[in-house]
Amino acid sequence: MVAIERQRSSSDLRVIAIDWSGAKSGARRKIWLAEARGGRDGGEPEIVRLECGRSRREIERHLLEEAEREPELIVGLDYAFSLPAWFLREHELTTARELWQLAAREAETWLERCEPPFWGRPGKRRPALPSHFRRTDADVPSVGSVRPKSPFQITGAGSVGTGSLRGMTLLRRLSDADWRVWPFDAPGLPLLIEIYPRLLTGAVVKSSPKARAQYLAWRFPELAEGRRRLAASSDDAFDAAVSALELARHAGDLLDLEQATDPVELLEGRIWRPGPGEAVLPERSAPGTAAGSPLPALLSALEYAAEKHRDQRRKGPEASPYINHPISVARVLAEVGEVSDPILLQAAILHDTIEDTRTTPGELEESFGAEVRALVEEVTDDKSLPKKVRKRLQIEHAPGRSLRAKQLKIADKISNIADIIGRPPTDWTLERKREYLDWAERVVAGCRGANRLLEECFDRNLLEAREALG
Ligand code: ZN
Repeated sequence: MVAIERQRSSSDLRVIAIDWSGAKSGARRKIWLAEARGGRDGGEPEIVRLECGRSRREIERHLLEEAEREPELIVGLDYAFSLPAWFLREHELTTARELWQLAAREAETWLERCEPPFWGRPGKRRPALPSHFRRTDADVPSVGSVRPKSPFQITGAGSVGTGSLRGMTLLRRLSDADWRVWPFDAPGLPLLIEIYPRLLTGAVVKSSPKARAQYLAWRFPELAEGRRRLAASSDDAFDAAVSALELARHAGDLLDLEQATDPVELLEGRIWRPGPGEAVLPERSAPGTAAGSPLPALLSALEYAAEKHRDQRRKGPEASPYINHPISVARVLAEVGEVSDPILLQAAILHDTIEDTRTTPGELEESFGAEVRALVEEVTDDKSLPKKVRKRLQIEHAPGRSLRAKQLKIADKISNIADIIGRPPTDWTLERKREYLDWAERVVAGCRGANRLLEECFDRNLLEAREALG
C-alpha cells in the first residue's frame, strides 16, 4: 500500500477495467480485462492489453499479483459494490465490508432460493420493497433509455444482481489484502472503484459490431488497428476497453477521489463518473448512437434480428430466410402505413425475436431502449400457453393495445396473408388458410382506428385472398 502523493504523475498509474460476469459457467469467456495507460496532458490513452480467459477466482489472484508487483493501480469493476442501505440496516450491518462478509457466506443461498428482496427467476416476480435501488443507481442519468438495474434482480440480460453478489467475495479478499475500495475507504492505492460502462460509452448500440467499431474509431482515433478490432469483437470486450480508456483519460481525477462522508453513501457505495464538464454525455451523438439519425438504430435492429433468426426459414415452398418476414412487416408499415416512427420500425424488425428466438426483453432494452422492448413485448404471445388460447388472447387483447402495437399487428397480418396467398406453407390445407383469414380479420377488428391506410390495405388484401382461395 502506498499513500497517494499529489505530485505523482498520473501517467505512472496503471488503470484496469473489468467487464465482470456472475455466470455459473463460461465466465472465462465473458470476463474481459482491459488495461490502459496515459491519456493525460493532452495525450490519447492507449490500451496496453485486452484479454479474457480468467475465471472470477483467477481474476482475483491476478489482481493481487499485479498489485504486489506495482501497487500504483486502479481497477474499475462493473457491478454494484453494495445493496440499498435499508437492506444493510435490516441485517444489522454497519459497513459495506460486513455485507461482503455476509455475502461471501450467503450469496449462493440467496441466488438459489431467490426469495425477496431478490427476484427474477421464473415465477419470482419483482417484490414490493422499501427501495429496489441504491441512491447512486437512481442518480445515473438514463443513457439511450438504459438505466442501471436493481442489484436485487438476479436474472435477465443486463441484470447485475448475480455478478454483484458473487463479486462481493472479490471485494472482501482485496480489501483484506489492504486494497482501498472507493468510496468506503480513505484514499490510497491500489484502489477499486465501481463503474457503469454505459455511463462511459454513451448510447452506442452495443449489440452491433459495426456500431462498436465506428464508436471506437470516432472516440479513440489513435487506437491501434488490432486493438480496435479486438475491442469491437464483443460487447464485453468493448465495455472493458472503453471503460479502461475513459478511466485512463481521467486518471488525474481518480487520484483525487475522496472517502465518502455521507452515511448512506458509506453503506451503499457510489458509481464513479467523470467530473462535470468532461462527462461522456449520453446525448453526444456518436455514430451508431440512438441520438441523431434513426437510420443507424434501424440498421442495427436489422443486423440484430438477422443474426437472431439466422437458422430459421419461412414455411413457404422456397423456405426463404425468416428475416424476410420482419423486413416485410417494417416495409408495409413504412410504405403502406406511411410510418416513419423509428421506435415502431425497429420494433417491427424485432417483433418475433422474443417469441421465436432466444432473446430476452432485457437484451432488447439494453440494445434498443425501453420503448422498443415494451412494444415488442406487447406483440409477443406467451408461448407457455396452448396455441388455441394464444390465438383467442390476440383477439381479446387487441383493442387494449397501444397505437403502435395495433399498427404493428395489422402490418404483420398483411404480410402473413400475402405469404399465405403468394407463398403458401406447403403443409397448409385450404381449410387452415381460411381459418387464418377469419382469425386475422378478428384481430384486426380490434386494432381499428390506429392507421387508416393500413386498415384499408388489409381489407383489400383480405378480400382478394378470399377470392383467390375460392
Ligand atoms: Zn410476425
